[in-house]
Amino acid sequence: MSAADSPAAASCGICGLIERIRGSSFADFIAELEHHYVILGDAQFYRGYCALLFKRHVMELHRLAPEIARSAFDEVLAVARAIDAAVHPIRLNYENLGNQEPHLHWHIFPRSADDPMRLAPVWMRPEAERKVTLDDRERRALIESLRAELARILR
Ligand SMILES: [Zn+2]
Repeated sequence: MSAADSPAAASCGICGLIERIRGSSFADFIAELEHHYVILGDAQFYRGYCALLFKRHVMELHRLAPEIARSAFDEVLAVARAIDAAVHPIRLNYENLGNQEPHLHWHIFPRSADDPMRLAPVWMRPEAERKVTLDDRERRALIESLRAELARILR
């Protein structure tokens, strides 16, 4: 079944991303889990930032069956542990918003001690500063490291 089968999903940016992941045309793909696709996020000022995209076009976490929500949250924790192991942040920030893209997804941002805006939410940093792209070699190495840590944690 396509992620974009419902009319609401047809214009959804996250369903569009999922279609690209399934078509193997998304370079920042990290892993496929039972409930989510995991990708390296586009704001690598926060090096190691990942997003989890729920595989179905669901709008709200609380509308999932409780056992599905718990199982999906276990995947959020696993990705958090993988980021922690790969980049050693001082802490992680978790975001489940859906204001711009009303398709269930999580952002996990590693925060570092040398960030002058470390007390502020990540979104306070101007988009042009946030949306840093790593050079290709570093990006690939980081994806491999996150993928390996995630596999180790889920083993
Ligand atoms: Zn969607």
